[in-house]
Amino acid sequence: MGVPVCKYCGQPMSRWKTPPMTNWEAEWFWVCFNDECTYFQQGWEWMMSRFHVSSSYRYRIDPGTGEDGPLPVWSGQALRSGIIEEKDDE
Ligand SMILES: [Zn+2]
Repeated sequence: MGVPVCKYCGQPMSRWKTPPMTNWEAEWFWVCFNDECTYFQQGWEWMMSRFHVSSSYRYRIDPGTGEDGPLPVWSGQALRSGIIEEKDDE
């Protein structure tokens, strides 16, 4: 299976390593890190209007279960350090 594309923006998703202090079973998730993604962009407005907080979320897929959902982020740069670079030979 190749790299999945985000169902909101159609861009290839990135592997993102889950932090050690979480209860997620997966070692990594597919995450859409496209800042132009409508899911990510509309998240800011949604969170501000509902909860009055400046945060958003990115589209995420669990590679093990196929489950998808939001990954909360507090800025455009947040969580980027966890992105796993794809190797050319894969
Ligand atoms: Zn996207």
